[in-house]
Amino acid sequence: MTMTSVPKMTRAKEAKFWETHDATDYLDEMEPVTMTVGPRPQNRCSVCGRVLLSRYVDINLAGGRAQLRQLRQLYCPAGHASCLAPEAQRLADAVEAVLRLTLVSVGAEQRAQVAA
Ligand SMILES: [Zn+2]
Repeated sequence: MTMTSVPKMTRAKEAKFWETHDATDYLDEMEPVTMTVGPRPQNRCSVCGRVLLSRYVDINLAGGRAQLRQLRQLYCPAGHASCLAPEAQRLADAVEAVLRLTLVSVGAEQRAQVAA
């Protein structure tokens, strides 16, 4: 093992550099860091602080005219709270927005036909 100095470079060049160099050759230049790994704060119950668990649920959209199945829901094991997981909420919002547009345009078409 040869101890050498890491050259100053841009992030892009640094990424390329580490593809072809062994970090253990530069251990004397590295500084220890403290990292905390664990559930993100938003994945805890706001009432009791417990980690929210996942389960899969079906939800109705557009007044029950459509259903999304097996969406991930986060829930407190003590029963304080539940909500859709962020990715499931984004999907539900997107589908509901499309349904709203579709239902409005169908309704408008039907009204136009009735008026004609
Ligand atoms: Zn709770």
